[in-house]
Amino acid sequence: MSSPFDPIQSLIPLLATPVALIGACIGSFINVVAWRLPREESLIWPGSHCPRCGTPLAWFENIPVLAWLMLRGRCRHCHQPIAARYPFVESLCAGLWVAVLLARPDRMGAGAEPVLLLVAGWFLVSWLLPMVLIDLDRLWLPEPMLRWGVLLGLAFAALLGFLQDPATGRRLLLEHLVATALGLLGFEAVSALAERALGRPALGLGDAKLAALMGAWLGPGGLGVAVALAVFGGALVGGLARILGRLGPNQPFPFGPFLAAGTVLVWLVGPQPWLRLMLPALVPGSPV
Ligand SMILES: [Zn+2]
Repeated sequence: MSSPFDPIQSLIPLLATPVALIGACIGSFINVVAWRLPREESLIWPGSHCPRCGTPLAWFENIPVLAWLMLRGRCRHCHQPIAARYPFVESLCAGLWVAVLLARPDRMGAGAEPVLLLVAGWFLVSWLLPMVLIDLDRLWLPEPMLRWGVLLGLAFAALLGFLQDPATGRRLLLEHLVATALGLLGFEAVSALAERALGRPALGLGDAKLAALMGAWLGPGGLGVAVALAVFGGALVGGLARILGRLGPNQPFPFGPFLAAGTVLVWLVGPQPWLRLMLPALVPGSPV
């Protein structure tokens, strides 16, 4: 999976704990972003405060996960409950950061700079997580995060390529540009077809742009597999929710979280393991 001269491999036991702590702090900031961005509030000022009584939080009340546990999920001032989502997102982000550290497949060419690849992975998971939360809350994806996410993905692909050699750089940039266009246009086309067939919007406007973002980060092959995983996951969860009566027959549900999950799964281990898992179901007896 990793190249023989990988300096990070031997440092993993040393790095895992600090990486988890940084991931938890980023998760804490992601909670702030997911709350404030849709409300068009500043992400930095004022500092964290209780959303119910407005009391500013002391430094120790900002410690990810631990503060919530110490306060037993209640505000110290107004004693109103604090949603379990806060420590959950912090733990999830810590887990994702460690997962990026542990699982680094051959991505962006065999000679890709390992440290830069790690940084790219941390950027990707931290960029997707707030968008997932906002989509879950509001069935809507923030336009600036989508746009900057596309540019960041293309920039990382180009940088990782050109640091190897100019030919690899040009190839990666072209592939990822093509995948960006494929994601956007493919989703727009499916959305238009589905809207004609169903007589109502079937996919959110943001989903096509999220697919473009996925193409920018994953390239054409990765994009295809990640979308397949998302469709599979969405059909499974959506179907179950409808059977269990948690979702009305025509009630929309956010597809962004499934696209984001597919993206992370493909980023972590590459498209091949998922292809091997899915293909036998699609093509019986396929020798993958
Ligand atoms: Zn309070």
